[in-house]
Amino acid sequence: MDDRPRRSDRGFDRPREMHTVKCSDCGAEAQVPFKPTEGRPVYCKECYQKHRPPRRF
Ligand SMILES: [Zn+2]
Repeated sequence: MDDRPRRSDRGFDRPREMHTVKCSDCGAEAQVPFKPTEGRPVYCKECYQKHRPPRRF
């Protein structure tokens, strides 16, 4: 009788505030979970992957 998903233990179910931005690269509208900083480029998901520094280990 305990088949309900438990996921609200620590407030993770609070809706995340999304901000609509315009991608600085391709110009597409994108939603980001953070507040865009003025003067700094924001990217859509695809361009974000491109502009992210390569992972190094
Ligand atoms: Zn883009």
